[in-house]
Amino acid sequence: MEHARNFYINGAWVSPQAGQEFGVVDPSTEEVTETISLGGQADTDAAVAAAKAAFPKWRLSSKAERLDLLESILDVYLRRSDDMAELISREMGAPIEMAKTQQSGTGSFHLKAFIDALRDFEFEAPLRAGEEDTHIIHEPIGVCALITPWNWPMNQITLKVVPALATGCTMVLKPSEQSPLSGLLFSEIMHEAGVPAGVYNMVNGDGPGVGSQLSSHQDVDMVSFTGSTRAGKAITIAAAETIKRVSLELGGKGANIVFADANEKAVKHGIIRCFNNTGQSCNAPTRMLVERSRYAQAVEDAKAAAEATQVNAASEEGRHIGPLVSEMQFNKVQDLIQKGIDEGARLVAGGVGRPDGLNRGFFVRPTVFADCTNDMTIMREEIFGPVLSMMPFDSEDEAIEIANDTDYGLTNYIQTSDPEKARRVARAVRSGMVDINGKGRGAGAPFGGMKQSGNGREGGVWGLEEFLEVRAIGGWPTE
Ligand code: NAD
Repeated sequence: MEHARNFYINGAWVSPQAGQEFGVVDPSTEEVTETISLGGQADTDAAVAAAKAAFPKWRLSSKAERLDLLESILDVYLRRSDDMAELISREMGAPIEMAKTQQSGTGSFHLKAFIDALRDFEFEAPLRAGEEDTHIIHEPIGVCALITPWNWPMNQITLKVVPALATGCTMVLKPSEQSPLSGLLFSEIMHEAGVPAGVYNMVNGDGPGVGSQLSSHQDVDMVSFTGSTRAGKAITIAAAETIKRVSLELGGKGANIVFADANEKAVKHGIIRCFNNTGQSCNAPTRMLVERSRYAQAVEDAKAAAEATQVNAASEEGRHIGPLVSEMQFNKVQDLIQKGIDEGARLVAGGVGRPDGLNRGFFVRPTVFADCTNDMTIMREEIFGPVLSMMPFDSEDEAIEIANDTDYGLTNYIQTSDPEKARRVARAVRSGMVDINGKGRGAGAPFGGMKQSGNGREGGVWGLEEFLEVRAIGGWPTE
């Protein structure tokens, strides 16, 4: 890539001041596919200074101006979306077909949804009818640091950059060092779309470097972070010194509660959902809880679905799953599969090692464990690989108790043909999102978690509000 070693600061591609080289590895081949720069303090400072200088003007931009800009970004994004898919596929291993439809597709999806949300958003309004002299103003919070992970790179980047722009904030994006190529192309798109200089800046770097420098920076007003709970805690601590707003989207360990009256394809669909993106989704339904009368059949269905899951290189066309993102993730997932065996779960599909015929690349065998108990490591830790853990339950109350017995609270899933039960269980499980019978949330619905899954809400009106300060002004002249 032309700008691979550069950063995008103040409307231009610049050379690093304190950078060091970093090889981006294609997880299907284990070869370095591109060399980027990881920035240092001087690069972080330059990007933050550009964002700070651009804020006073951008803060006052009109809604119409911002809508025009978002429309231009969408136009350029759609034109370059195949290039985007190709880069995502190469940097993090999403199979090319899935990279086009799902990975790259999320970027345009979020752009469109935020354009709609912004169009209807009222930045100013009276407190209530009859009290017009108390005026409420929603105002951009200021300079935002946006730190994103590698698993859904464009999903996360657009869920942060677009609302920050839409609300009048200025920003520094730090994409994951594992998946920086899509972030570089995204910066080209922003440039071509005519984002004013300094409003959007991008510096590549790692967590201990640019990530920590941004989270503790005096001139950053807010950090919006998506990634591991571990890093979320470190960022919260780093940000405390300057009392920044910290919005966190962290990990998950979703339960998929399959009642005896569920659709006959519920288990198969649960496996597909769990293994999508090679299991590397924070909202994956990784704990399948099945009502006992249906459990033996469910284990058979899960085994068949896992064994039917094809694994192949990301560059190959087709509906297979790809490799894991990195050697580190590969080793972590192998260790967790071994732990499942050692702790006494029943391995019914997959296991340790690579799938047959794949001797290179971070490929993992689609794996299913049955007869798990909720104290096992594979039921408690986020595995982030194509690994499903199954467990039977005897009553609705027990299913809810197991689902809620976790540090996480991102998404839970319910499979039943009884509408009253679906509503009851949806209210009882403790998670930011619930998916009933495979029906996803509508565009503009909030995405986010409870407990150690984080405190942020992304998307739609809620995604805009994250980046706004709410001000109250009494004595507002009404004539
Ligand atoms: P990670 O936490 O290691 O890295 C995420 C980002 O944070 C990267 O850009 C990284 O460079 C940076 N980072 C790491 N340590 C940091 C630190 N101390 N200070 C500042 N920045 C730091 O996570 P990952 O491995 O890239 O992503 C996988 C994790 O992300 C999973 O746990 C997954 O569940 C979570 N995730 C959550 C959501 C959500 O919306 N809830 C979405 C996607 C991924």
